[in-house]
Amino acid sequence: MAIETRYYEILEVETDASDHEIKRAYRKLAMKYHPDKNPDEGERFKEISHAYEILSDPDSRAKYDRFGEDGPGGGAGGYGMSADDLFANLFGGGGGMGFGFDGDDFHSHGMPRRPHKGSSTKSPLNVTLEDLYLGKKTKLALQKSVICSNCDGKGGKTGATKKCGACNGRGFQVAMRQVGMGMIQQMQVPCDECNHTGEIAKDRCKKCKGKKVTVQKKYLEVFIEKGMQDGQKIVMKGEGDQEPGVEPGDIILVLEQKSHKIFTREGNDLHCHVTISLTEALCGFEKVIVTHLDGRGIQVKQPAGQVIKPGMVKRIPNEGMPTYKRPDARGDLYIQFEVEFPPDNFTADYSNLESLLPKRTKTKPEHEIIDEYSLIDGDMDSFGASSQSRNAYDEDDSEDDEDHGVRCAQQ
Ligand SMILES: [Zn+2]
Ligand SMILES: [Zn+2]
Repeated sequence: MAIETRYYEILEVETDASDHEIKRAYRKLAMKYHPDKNPDEGERFKEISHAYEILSDPDSRAKYDRFGEDGPGGGAGGYGMSADDLFANLFGGGGGMGFGFDGDDFHSHGMPRRPHKGSSTKSPLNVTLEDLYLGKKTKLALQKSVICSNCDGKGGKTGATKKCGACNGRGFQVAMRQVGMGMIQQMQVPCDECNHTGEIAKDRCKKCKGKKVTVQKKYLEVFIEKGMQDGQKIVMKGEGDQEPGVEPGDIILVLEQKSHKIFTREGNDLHCHVTISLTEALCGFEKVIVTHLDGRGIQVKQPAGQVIKPGMVKRIPNEGMPTYKRPDARGDLYIQFEVEFPPDNFTADYSNLESLLPKRTKTKPEHEIIDEYSLIDGDMDSFGASSQSRNAYDEDDSEDDEDHGVRCAQQ
């Protein structure tokens, strides 16, 4: 079976990379493309985050390796997971995900500047159109850094610190990166050892190993409100990684609506296609034409005599999506009708049928020359192919064609 590698490519790691390597690669790229630093690379950052989200969790990584991006459950981020599972490992990783940095840290010399508020973490949240119609309360499990309860975030018993040996107190280590033919770029990456603070505790706390924070699983309740839209953000204030002396950032969930089998949404209006028979189109009907997002049948009574033509659009007021914050105000439901015609030879009694249908319009013959044909099936895929074959094979016979063409034009 072919192995999909796109997520590995996004993170610039080998497919057999260790969890640690994946985490390092992610940290590096997340810093480089974080929207705070690189506002134009928002999509890239999202991709990187998503790839990490999948590859950092052993289960979803195994599923991805086996089934690729469109694994069982289908759709981006699907994997048959509940939203809960999906977020379980999103914010994981020892010592925090490094989202506490700000752009200036990266270029500063000497001691890094400490941000007062952690950066916000943006993450997609997959929802269905049903969720947005009905509203939904969901629980997300997330792993995040919290201030170590054993040492109160001091990193050791006394809080006394010494210079970090790994980075010599700078908070950064220098990494080399090959950027093409023999070119090596030096870049500063935050020191893992001291969590880029430049100092480590003298008597390290056993629980957090001097990192001042531990990773904990926390459940967050998320309310998807009626009428919310694809792309709308839900801000979970102060739920980002904790760090001593820093106000935690927010977690921002960005709703991503999966496409729906029946309905498309535009604003608060819904649109769907409904197929009826020719008999129904001409003689009316009374039936359930579509199942709504809450499971109700939408029954329509169309009286005989009001003809539905193929492609005709009808509207049912107030059967669209609820309005955000005003769920009683609804958009409209637009129905586009397709008419299914009966098959060949569906009756033997055409004269009887014709007697009921509108009279034929008689046209006076006005052509001097009339050629008569029977129709054969045409296929628009082959439309335009005739001239190609003529040019390719019949160049010598082109005079005949020209004569014919002239005659046609003169008529
Ligand atoms: Zn501790
Ligand atoms: Zn260090």
